[in-house]
Amino acid sequence: MVLDFIINIILLMGIIGLFNLTRYVLKIRKIIKMHKDNPNIQGITIVNGEVKIIEKKSDVESIKVEVPKEIDPICGKEIDRAEAYRIVIDGEEYYFCSWECRDDFLKKKQQEGA
Ligand SMILES: [Zn+2]
Repeated sequence: MVLDFIINIILLMGIIGLFNLTRYVLKIRKIIKMHKDNPNIQGITIVNGEVKIIEKKSDVESIKVEVPKEIDPICGKEIDRAEAYRIVIDGEEYYFCSWECRDDFLKKKQQEGA
């Protein structure tokens, strides 16, 4: 009978769906086990049948990328470029930790020039 045939197909599709679902659940469980010690996990996503974890970028990493470090030529201190005192002499950039270091540097430059 046609109806039996249709019911069989629906049943078969259901079984395949259940099978895929079970596979995904097993995959997700495996991935959670693999990454259970990782504190940066935000979630899990399924893209084209692949289970992937969503990871939060660690703060240390993003700071490293966003703010380049500069070395103060007077005191040798390492400073964030965003917080440094900056001067440009003859197209060259110099960065200082403080106004005093910047002043010292300018005095030295003047002495060299004179
Ligand atoms: Zn300094």
